[in-house]
Amino acid sequence: MEFELWYLVVLPLVFAAGWFGRGFESRTRATDNAALPRSYFRGLNLLLNDQHDKAIDAFIEVVKLDPETIELHHALGNLFRRRGEFDRAVRIHTHLLNRSDLPARERAQALSELGQDYLKGGLLDRAEDAFTRLLEHRDQRFEALRSLLRIYQMEREWLKAIDCARLLEREAGEDHQVAISHYHCELADIALGAGRLDDAQRAIDDALTTDRRSIRALILAGDLAARRGDPSEALTRWQRVEAVSRDHLSLIADKVTAALDGLGRRTEALNWLRRALQDAPSIDMLDCAHRRVLEWEGPAAAEALVGDELRRHPSLLGFERLARARLALNPGDEELQGLSTLLKSHAQKLARYRCSRCGFRAREYHWNCPGCTNWDSYPPRRIEELDGQ
Ligand SMILES: [Zn+2]
Repeated sequence: MEFELWYLVVLPLVFAAGWFGRGFESRTRATDNAALPRSYFRGLNLLLNDQHDKAIDAFIEVVKLDPETIELHHALGNLFRRRGEFDRAVRIHTHLLNRSDLPARERAQALSELGQDYLKGGLLDRAEDAFTRLLEHRDQRFEALRSLLRIYQMEREWLKAIDCARLLEREAGEDHQVAISHYHCELADIALGAGRLDDAQRAIDDALTTDRRSIRALILAGDLAARRGDPSEALTRWQRVEAVSRDHLSLIADKVTAALDGLGRRTEALNWLRRALQDAPSIDMLDCAHRRVLEWEGPAAAEALVGDELRRHPSLLGFERLARARLALNPGDEELQGLSTLLKSHAQKLARYRCSRCGFRAREYHWNCPGCTNWDSYPPRRIEELDGQ
C-alpha cells in the first residue's frame, strides 16, 4: 500500500484513539451520542475499501456530532489534496466553511485550506476569491496576502502583484523590493512589445526607483533607447550593467555589438567582445564572440578565437564549439562531423542554466524560476561552468 494511502487510513484511527483517550466528561458525552464511534469506523472501513466519497460522508457525520473532530477533517482534507484528489479536499473544506456553528477561527482555517485546494487544483479564480475573503480575518491576513501574491504572479497580473507585495512590506515588514522591481520590468516588457514607449519608460523608472541595481531594468532602459532610435544612449545605458555585475555582460553582448556595428564601430565591437572574454569569460560570451567573428571576419578567424579561448578556459562545451568552428572550415570532414555530433550529445546536459535555489534546469535564461518562482535565482552561467567553479 502506498505511503499516503496508508496514512489516510491510519489518520482516523489515531483520532479515534485520541477520542477514546479523552477524559470522563467526553466519554459521558459519547454515551449520549452512541453513533459517534460507529461513524468513525464506518468511515474507516469505507476508506479501506477505497470508497473515499462515502468515507467523507461518514466523517462529515462525525463532525456534525462532535465539532472537536475538526482537526481530523483538516488532516483528511490536506491528505486528499496531497494525493491530487482536489474535489474531495474541496468537499471537506467547503463543509467545514459552511458550518455556521463552528468558531470563526476554524471557519477561517477552512477557507484558507479551501483556497489552497483551488490553488493546487489550478482553479486560480476560485483560489483568488477564497484568499480575498480571507483578508478580513486578522490571523490569516498575511498568509492570504502571500497566497494572493503567488496567484497574481502566476496570472501575470503585475499591477495587483505590486499592490499585494507593497501591503506585505507595509503590514508584515517583509522585503519584496527585488520582486516588485521585476513586476515593473514585466510591465515595461509588455509596453515595449506593444510599442507603448512612454509607458515602458515609466515602468523602467519605477523598477529602478525600487531597485536601482536591477540588471533587468538597466538592460530594458538600453532596449528602450535603442527602440527610440538612439543607439548611443542605449550603449550608455547598457554600460551600467557592467558597473553592477560583470557576470551579466553575456546578456547584453549581442545588443552592445549590434549597436556598435550599427554606428559603424565594428572594430570597437570586436574589441569590446575580446575584452569581455578576458574580464568575464563564459560560454555565452564565447558564443556571441564566435557568431560575430564568423559573420564579420570569416570562419578562420572564428576558429582561431574559439581555439585561443579554449586554451585559457578548457571546457567540454568549448570543445563542442571548436569542433563546430573547425567543421565550418572543413565541411566534408566526416570524422570531425562524427566528433561534433558526439560532443553535442554529451554537452547538451551541461549547457542548461540552473536555479541556485531549487536546482531547476532550463535551456533558456530566466529572471523568474519556473520551478520555485524566485526572482534572480539563475546565474548567467551554464551548468558545466557552475560545477567547475
Ligand atoms: Zn528555482
